[in-house]
Amino acid sequence: MEFDFENRILDPEETPEDFELENPLRPRTLAEYVGQDKVKENLSVFIKAAKIRKEPLDHVLLYGPPGLGKTTLSGIIANEMNVNFKITSGPAIEKSGDLAAILTNLNEGDVLFIDEIHRLPRTVEEILYPAMEDFSIDIITGKGQMATSYHLSLPRFTLVGATTRAGQLSAPLRDRFGVVLRLEMYSSQELAKIIRRSATILGINIDNDGAIEIASRSRGTPRIANRLLRRVRDFALVQNREDIDFSTARVALDKLEIDELGLDANDRRMLKAMIEFYNGGPVGIETLAAAIGEESVTIEDIYEPYLMQIGFISRTPRGRVANRAAYLHLGLEPVE
Ligand code: ADP
Repeated sequence: MEFDFENRILDPEETPEDFELENPLRPRTLAEYVGQDKVKENLSVFIKAAKIRKEPLDHVLLYGPPGLGKTTLSGIIANEMNVNFKITSGPAIEKSGDLAAILTNLNEGDVLFIDEIHRLPRTVEEILYPAMEDFSIDIITGKGQMATSYHLSLPRFTLVGATTRAGQLSAPLRDRFGVVLRLEMYSSQELAKIIRRSATILGINIDNDGAIEIASRSRGTPRIANRLLRRVRDFALVQNREDIDFSTARVALDKLEIDELGLDANDRRMLKAMIEFYNGGPVGIETLAAAIGEESVTIEDIYEPYLMQIGFISRTPRGRVANRAAYLHLGLEPVE
């Protein structure tokens, strides 16, 4: 595969580099977690109530595009509840035995985080139903006439599921979450606050205007904001600048070809394809994916959420449509 630098930099999905670098930047308490006020308010009530009742927190489903802080928030839940935090993901659990092993190793009250929970195999998902509802599982060993079934009680735990697509979750699984919370994209002010916080942890000097400049090009996503901060720091270092101000940030981001709205060459390519090949749409997601040589899930999870958020494209029953604002941004004449 061709190495696509820009795609990597604005891709809200976690890369192995992020995993190493993000850990020190993750807030550990609700008070440190920037933005998402509604979500924090609700969670803090539920956490307090669970503590008063001396019971584990109800199962929580977090949904929203990648990089908005779902993993971070579930770690915070465990921390605020003073319990252990176990982390796994839908695609990592292949067999029902894998999940049974994880569940039987939990302690009372633990938080089990399953990322990308919509990708759990169906047979595995079925084990989760009784585990979530009655804190028990049935394990079958052996085959045919030799098969024996064991009923095992589990400690009462809290499942935190994260998904980029609540719509893809099966109804029986979705219904078993007592708390369902949707994470929103962040404002530039909130992202600037995250950038300044990260800069302090990393020992980077950045002024307010520099932080706002990076924030406004981070597509509403903390993961991207933190990543751009690291890239801008590299530019500043090479140019012998001690501090990051507005102009250092702007020059670095221009060099990275990230425009003032946070769009990169890939976004622009997709919008151009919609406008030039399909007259602005509606164009089906599969057709569009084929036209620009991307997977349709990449378009749905990575390109679309932000482009819809800023009103550049809309989803209609007949496909995706490029809006007037997208034409104007690309310097093209809108079709009326
Ligand atoms: P997700 O699980 O939704 O993909 P993560 O929880 O891994 O996202 O967050 C990505 C990065 O963004 C982490 O390094 C984290 O430090 C940072 N981050 C996310 N949300 C916040 C927030 N509300 N406040 C501060 N930092 C955040």
